[in-house]
Amino acid sequence: MRFLPAMEPTERAEAIASVASVFMAAGMITVAAVSGSVSVLAEGIDTVVDIVASVAVMIGLRLSRRHSRDFPDGLYKVENIVGLAIGVLVLFSAYELTGEAIGGLTGHQEPISAPWVAIGTMSVVVVITGLLAWNKGRVGKAENSPSLVADSRHSWTDAIASAGVVLGVALAAAGVPYADSIMALVIVAILFWSGGQVVLDALKVLLDASIEPDLLQAAAAAAGSDPRVRRVVRVDGRNSGSYRFLHLAVVPESEDLRDAEQAAQTIKDSVREAVTNVESVQVEFVPDPSRDIRVAVPLEADSCTIAPDLASASSYAVLAVAPGWRALEQVSLVPSPRGPDEAPDGAGRDIASVVALARLGVDQLLVTGSSPTGGPAFVMDANAMEVLERPDLTTLAQVQAQASAGSLLDGQVAQSSSSQSDPG
Ligand SMILES: [Zn+2]
Repeated sequence: MRFLPAMEPTERAEAIASVASVFMAAGMITVAAVSGSVSVLAEGIDTVVDIVASVAVMIGLRLSRRHSRDFPDGLYKVENIVGLAIGVLVLFSAYELTGEAIGGLTGHQEPISAPWVAIGTMSVVVVITGLLAWNKGRVGKAENSPSLVADSRHSWTDAIASAGVVLGVALAAAGVPYADSIMALVIVAILFWSGGQVVLDALKVLLDASIEPDLLQAAAAAAGSDPRVRRVVRVDGRNSGSYRFLHLAVVPESEDLRDAEQAAQTIKDSVREAVTNVESVQVEFVPDPSRDIRVAVPLEADSCTIAPDLASASSYAVLAVAPGWRALEQVSLVPSPRGPDEAPDGAGRDIASVVALARLGVDQLLVTGSSPTGGPAFVMDANAMEVLERPDLTTLAQVQAQASAGSLLDGQVAQSSSSQSDPG
């Protein structure tokens, strides 16, 4: 089981349940064939249905982690058409089992052979199903997964139903008439219910997999009310069965994304509060599409010659270049900050400078010599700040002329993306 640690906790819980269920279903159907117990057969068929349902949940969880733009619509349709077919099959087998159970009630009922084998098998099934239900509930609550919590509840009903089968077979073996058939009818009722549910969910999604506009609006409003969010650029998602997968792209208020993960978590929580049955929310921080691209130019003490490196820069010119036209909008001069543990030769100043520039929302740092390495490079990387290599330039006036002509960023990908996303 080397693949298990690589899975998400919710997926692992589903996978363990599915593997255990395969063995239980095989055991129950075999025992049903040997003993002739209709209730054991009904519970075996229910378990087969549950395995298929678990696999569907796992596929849903996998898909939900992809970016919504990559959502393969065609695959959803297949998922739901398969769901519909399974639902119809469940209803059909429930119908068949009803006939058999009623046949047992009205006609001559064969006694159950080897009742102890059936009782023993079903007792093991009760214990394992109970353990799986407990595990799904525990993981589902910890991971905030409504579908896993719902699955756990279903497993508890299965454990109780299996205990009922033990009782039914025991009573039948003790000579109580119809006990096995009556128990079978109870399980058939559960099958009808879950089969109907599967069919309805599949139909609902096939008719419209997209999320209702008012729910998307509620999600956007919830995210927008967070003080760290300047603007919600996009919100989309899809329904899978009764569960919703949402994806939000937001522009952060601050350029400083040091607490991005925590901010994303708070936003997710408020979206979950605003919209019910949300299986997963993805929050992606995106740059404001209408925002300027900011270029920092390190300067020498004369405020016009470009400094060779960060440690020797005495100030920075921050140029705002308009997107699209890439024309120069404004220049502001920022003094080079003194590092907290700055050495006499200026070492330590480079990191302090890059941190200060990141807080100003600088997207690109112009360098004429070698690119920063070590600490400054790390800070730049963490803030998605890029290096603009222009060894051909020596003065700020040249930089301004290039920016005004729209050629400063030529050959450079004008990207200022500080993208953070968090699955699940
Ligand atoms: Zn079940």
